[in-house]
Amino acid sequence: MPRNYEIAELKRLDVAHHLPAQQDYKLIEDMGGSRIVTHAEGCYIHDGDGNRILDGMAGLWCVNVGYGRDELVEVAAEQMRELPFYNTFFKTVTPPTVLLAQKIAQHTGGKLQHVFFNASGSEANDTVFRMVRHYWKLKGEPKRTVFISRWNAYHGSTVAGVSLGGMKAMHAQGDLPVPGVEHVRQPYWFGEGFGQDPVQFGKDCAAAIEERILAVGPENVAAFIGEPVQGAGGVIIPPPGYWQEVEAICRKYGILLVADEVICGFGRTGQWFGHQTYGFTPDLVPMAKGLSSGYLPISATAVSSDIVEVLKTGGDFVHGFTYSGHPVAAAVALANIGIIEREGLVERTREDTGPYLARALTRLLAHELVGEVRSIGLLGAVEIVSKKGTNQRWLGAEGNAGPVVRDLCIKNGLMVRGIRDTIVMCPPLIISHQQIDDMVDIIGKSLDEAL
Ligand code: PLP
Repeated sequence: MPRNYEIAELKRLDVAHHLPAQQDYKLIEDMGGSRIVTHAEGCYIHDGDGNRILDGMAGLWCVNVGYGRDELVEVAAEQMRELPFYNTFFKTVTPPTVLLAQKIAQHTGGKLQHVFFNASGSEANDTVFRMVRHYWKLKGEPKRTVFISRWNAYHGSTVAGVSLGGMKAMHAQGDLPVPGVEHVRQPYWFGEGFGQDPVQFGKDCAAAIEERILAVGPENVAAFIGEPVQGAGGVIIPPPGYWQEVEAICRKYGILLVADEVICGFGRTGQWFGHQTYGFTPDLVPMAKGLSSGYLPISATAVSSDIVEVLKTGGDFVHGFTYSGHPVAAAVALANIGIIEREGLVERTREDTGPYLARALTRLLAHELVGEVRSIGLLGAVEIVSKKGTNQRWLGAEGNAGPVVRDLCIKNGLMVRGIRDTIVMCPPLIISHQQIDDMVDIIGKSLDEAL
């Protein structure tokens, strides 16, 4: 049972002292503090006001195995007793770190046989940023420094993460991106290709990458980075064939391909990794979130053997963090992957719950505010429109519809996110059919109330 917290006092202290991530501090103050989430089990979170809320976001796209896994608690406690910390700077390493690297390599497969550890998804992308530029210098092509990314991509909140990402509001704060990052259009059919043939639209979006490569000069381009499915951008599922085109373009110009699997990794799209779902082979794979199901902060960057062979010619790679390969986080991640394997959560997502969610979402298509529903595995989105059969925004210039409907969903017992005019969902991979139905029914009820 949860401890007996003084909720009103915690809210007061939250306003007085705590600066939350990605928030409007004045708004939190006006609200009298954030919602205090006290405990959770399975697919439900509980707040200090006594609400039990179905967690349609798996925390923040991460609690893949659900809440309340005692096994992970035991593993963490045992590892803390045995060895709470040691570093990988002093030509030292700990057993869970090595075993986790091996386990990740087993699931990434192919040439992705090497793993660099970090503590967050942003750091995993910082590692990509520095490793890729270092690699090209060692390869004798020092001009290859430019990264190509997409508008509306999310690659994290550090300087490199924001720069690689394509969120204009984030660029505006901190005068980013850093030089050497180019952004091209995203394969967002509903928002930007509506009315066009989706496959042709995907080809056009891939062609935009090639055009930019030619504009920048192929000899200057280091890598292309993309999320297999853009998560924070609004669960943007690329049209069929898009990734094959992107891969072919990268190979044509000898450009490294980076699949940011921070959300898509560990079963989310119905395979261990999103690039496996879409059938392409990246050279680097940053991952986080589902790696430990959020039980402890840890991330990894999987790297191909070809890149590592080049890095071996360069002496020390002077990059890394105190918590790179943290033994407790690594032990928990290893046990978490063990749960995903043992319970067949990847296969279940691919063959059972993913298709079930896709079918359930189609029930919303009859709603007059719904323009499109889409999903892959257990990642889903509902587009809110003002006029059936169009992609016209519901609130127009007055603001975004997503947050309005999101707030109604939360009131009705479902945590989802509202991104612009889209409701997105990413529930724990243990979600049941009944809970999927509840999720869809609550979204439908909330849309009714929003009318
Ligand atoms: N990359 C992707 C695709 C993400 O979705 C996120 C976070 O949502 C990140 C990177 C950054 O991860 P973190 O918040 O752990 O730094």
